[in-house]
Amino acid sequence: MVKPSNIELLYDYDKLLERLYQKLPTRGARASRFELPRLIVERVGSKTIIKNFKQLCDVMRREPRIIMRYLLKELGAAGNFDEDSGSLTINIRVSAQTLNTLLQRFVKTYVICPTCGAPDTRLEKRDRAWILVCEACGAEQPVPPF
Ligand SMILES: [Zn+2]
Repeated sequence: MVKPSNIELLYDYDKLLERLYQKLPTRGARASRFELPRLIVERVGSKTIIKNFKQLCDVMRREPRIIMRYLLKELGAAGNFDEDSGSLTINIRVSAQTLNTLLQRFVKTYVICPTCGAPDTRLEKRDRAWILVCEACGAEQPVPPF
C-alpha cells in the first residue's frame, strides 16, 4: 500500500524529469533527425560496391571524392568512384554495417555543426586546414584533416 505522500513524491519526480527534458538543448534531436539513406551494397568477388554512393554524398552535401578519401583511409583500402553510375568500388570485402558506422562518423565530424547541431554546413579548405562552416549559425570549426 503506497501512502498518499509517496504518490505525491513520485508525481513530483515525474514533473521534475519532464521539466528537465524540456530544458535540454535540442541539438541532439536535430542531429539525429539527419538520416542517411539505406546503403545499397553489393559484393563482387573480393570487392565491395556501394551502389548509391553518389546519392549518399548528395544527402550529406559533400563531394564524392572527399567521402571516398575518408572511407578508403579509414578502411586502409584502395578503391574508385565511378562518375557515370555514381557507385563506389572498394577493393576489399566490408560489411554494410561497417560502412554505415564510418559514414555516421563522417557525418558527425564533417557535416553536423557542433555548435547548433544543424546539418547545413560546408567544408572549406583554408591554407592546409579544413574548416566546417555552419550556414545556420555561422560557427566555424576546424576539423581533423583526411
Ligand atoms: Zn551551427
